[in-house]
Amino acid sequence: MHWSQFFIPTSKETPKDATAASHVLMLRAGLIRQVAAGVYCYLPLGYRTLRKVEAIVREEMNRAGAIELHMSVLMPLDWWQQTGRTEAMGDTLLRLGGPPGDWRSQTVLGPTHEEQVVDIARAFLGSYKQLPINLYQIQTKFRGEARPKSGVLRTREFLMKDAYSFHADKASLDEGYQKMYDAYCRIFGRCGLPYIAVEADSGPIGGDSSHEFMVLTDAGEDTVAISENGDYAANTERATAFFEGHRDGETPGRSAESGQAAAEPLREVHTPGAGRVEDVCKVLGTTPAQMIKTLIYTVTQPEPQASARGSASEPQAPARGPSAPVSRLVALVRGDHDVNEIKLRKAARQLCGSANASIDMADARTIEELTGAKVGFAGPQGIVERFRAGDMLVIDRDVTALRNAASGANKTDYHVTGVNPGRDFPLAPDDRRPYVLVADIRMVVEGDLSPRGSGSPIRLKTAIEVGHVFKLGTKYSDAMNATFLTREGKPARFIMGCYGIGLNRIVAAAIEANHDDNGIIWPMSIAPFEAVVIALDPRDDHAMEVAAGIYNELAAMGVDVLFDDRDERAGFKFKDADLVGIPLRVVVGKKSLAEGVVEWSHRRDQVKHTLPPAQAAGHIAGLVRAARQTSAALS
Ligand code: ATP
Ligand code: MG
Repeated sequence: MHWSQFFIPTSKETPKDATAASHVLMLRAGLIRQVAAGVYCYLPLGYRTLRKVEAIVREEMNRAGAIELHMSVLMPLDWWQQTGRTEAMGDTLLRLGGPPGDWRSQTVLGPTHEEQVVDIARAFLGSYKQLPINLYQIQTKFRGEARPKSGVLRTREFLMKDAYSFHADKASLDEGYQKMYDAYCRIFGRCGLPYIAVEADSGPIGGDSSHEFMVLTDAGEDTVAISENGDYAANTERATAFFEGHRDGETPGRSAESGQAAAEPLREVHTPGAGRVEDVCKVLGTTPAQMIKTLIYTVTQPEPQASARGSASEPQAPARGPSAPVSRLVALVRGDHDVNEIKLRKAARQLCGSANASIDMADARTIEELTGAKVGFAGPQGIVERFRAGDMLVIDRDVTALRNAASGANKTDYHVTGVNPGRDFPLAPDDRRPYVLVADIRMVVEGDLSPRGSGSPIRLKTAIEVGHVFKLGTKYSDAMNATFLTREGKPARFIMGCYGIGLNRIVAAAIEANHDDNGIIWPMSIAPFEAVVIALDPRDDHAMEVAAGIYNELAAMGVDVLFDDRDERAGFKFKDADLVGIPLRVVVGKKSLAEGVVEWSHRRDQVKHTLPPAQAAGHIAGLVRAARQTSAALS
């Protein structure tokens, strides 16, 4: 490809509003152009890289035995009502709109394809003999993301590889999951990404049945907890810390063991205006770790749906309406900890037995009603005495280990000291108050210890999620009544896994992980071109002839090569080459030719080497082949 005849609109300007390196560099290198908030088109250079990523993904999916198909973007709203996801996805699910009764009002743009693939499975996979099977596609997804961010890292239209596996039993799912996990490692490895797989929150399934593939970089929107010795890595949505627990036979918080202070009586302290933990600590002369934070939420349980797999297009009542039962939830964490609302929601769901219950921070009126005090003075002591039927108390594990803690007094402008778990608030349910639970409901913090028991401290790092593997179980086959006949001839629901990769995110994450002040440094495997030949002075016929010769030779050897034949100043061309980031560069200029050589360098280290022109193409092609072999060795 001749640069002069190609289309690479590079720019010197750093775009306004772009802060993530990948965003800035993709715009400046002429890879993408913004169309609207969260919508980008790929210009030729960007598209070449995207296609290379796609080829790697496809190759590894096929190698893992997955079968490619292509589902539709438009699909009936009805499916989403069957699985309850119109509610769960909210505004993320894009509907076409249109007047009621019009086909548009019954049609959505696919944000993901569980519904459609389950519909295929229930139509065609009738027997256990057809299982297991893994169906995948590489296709554009649409999501009404509220906050598109950082260029192509979070957009409203993006390219996803999504795969769905169907199994007859759990053991087969485990096997299929592992195959995908391994394929993902090969894909990200081949794309040159420094990735780690972390345990992720797996929603209703529980266990370690979900992993996210993360690239550590400041541009990410996720936070992962990684132990220093590497024995633990998890998304902070799910991460848990080492907890020593209680000695056998000891009732938590009840007795003062040797070495622990005796339980003091409750004592009220006047703390006017001190609503925040730090302020209270100052007045009480204590530390946040010795305090109990009391947070009040409301729990809403959706009415049971008329029929989870209701037929045809009968519209479903919204799951959350004014009639949905609401109870109050008191959550206790240490003053130096924060509630993890995903964990808390799980605890609430466990307590009320509703898999769809949701939690929200309570408003001031609800808090004042429950505590009898202004916001900022809630405490756990005696709080259950104020409970109505259905109210819940959830205590973080670390709170149970506190003795003589401080907390709000449930009295405006007062706190108490001498709060003792077990004595001043229950740690277990009884007949009168069935909704009491001790659980891990907090966010991990830097310095927590690995839950593996190795004593290794946890560090928090920001990361980009590039892929996600997930054991779904029968969630969707239940909701859409998708069954096959078992060996015994009985109908059974498919057990499923699903596996997603964001292709655009791979491109951006690769840039986040591989760039310098001057531009992109592409990993060879996904570089838009593997090598660039720069003719320094296209008006010099001899130099031009030598450069064109090397370019032609490289192309003939199968190297993906770009020829910078533009009539521009050398400095300008070097800047562009740095920005665009092609891994190998050959420079042909009058001066070096006079010495019988051409120069070549790696984009990464920029160290200049020289070679006789006749050897240049062979040498560069050898480097390209070696890089390809390294990549192939990963698969
Ligand atoms: P996130 O938490 O970042 O929103 P997600 O959990 O919604 O991601 P999945 O539904 O699991 O993502 O989608 C699979 C993959 O698709 C993700 O791992 C990510 O690489 C990619 N992806 C998801 N949402 C977007 C988006 N808005 N823009 C670009 N890529 C995305
Ligand atoms: Mg998302």
